[in-house]
Amino acid sequence: MARRKIVAGNWKMNMTPSEAVKLVETLKPLVANDDVDVVFCVPAIDIIPVIEVAKGSNIQVGAENMYFEEKGAYTGEISPAMLTDVGVKYVVLGHSERREYFAETSETVNKKMLKAFEHGITPIMCCGESLEQREQGITMDWIRQQVKVGFLNVTAEQAKTAVIAYEPIWAIGTGKTATTEQAQEVCAGIRQCIAEIYDDATAAAIRIQYGGSVNAKTAPELFAQADIDGGLVGGASLKEEFGQIVNYK
Ligand code: PEP
Repeated sequence: MARRKIVAGNWKMNMTPSEAVKLVETLKPLVANDDVDVVFCVPAIDIIPVIEVAKGSNIQVGAENMYFEEKGAYTGEISPAMLTDVGVKYVVLGHSERREYFAETSETVNKKMLKAFEHGITPIMCCGESLEQREQGITMDWIRQQVKVGFLNVTAEQAKTAVIAYEPIWAIGTGKTATTEQAQEVCAGIRQCIAEIYDDATAAAIRIQYGGSVNAKTAPELFAQADIDGGLVGGASLKEEFGQIVNYK
């Protein structure tokens, strides 16, 4: 069965709630597409107004992070139940910015993955190499490690529903997109890694996105690759251009 494409926007720390409402009103008609899953991953404070304004559209709403405990003395954190209570379906986990600035590790990502599945939230687990790692020729070793630790104790049935975003760190927010060949090569390597951890059926079902300066020009060729099932889009998800990315065909 063909995998359904998934295009997700990652707003990062942008858009106040009132700005968010205006942006979604503008983007709603532009991102209409019944053939693609469209997800807006937004700051926690924007989640409720965005869900409200997106009602009746094809936009699904995701969070940019989540904690791995149920509740309690974890000041500043958001629990999975808080997300599902308002209708959140997806959560970005292990974005390189969280790994770099907020001490996220593959071990904490794994705890969050397990918790997300427990609550029926689909994780979009990010992985990706630095420029230094690419130049050292250890891209695939590094990413296989991130995937293997991230998916520890995740069942095959759960893994089939997951999304992995391959995001080379050197391509995020830099305007430098990986070449189509580089992106396809790593996404195929990730699928191979999933086949080794689980089996061919799980590898065939899991969706793998490319992320890193995706724009309306680069999306069509990237998303046409055999192992690229859509994109995780930062900067361009805040613009009308996101409509063209979703409607890349
Ligand atoms: C991202 O935030 O995941 C991302 C890929 O950002 P950008 O598209 O701006 O490079």
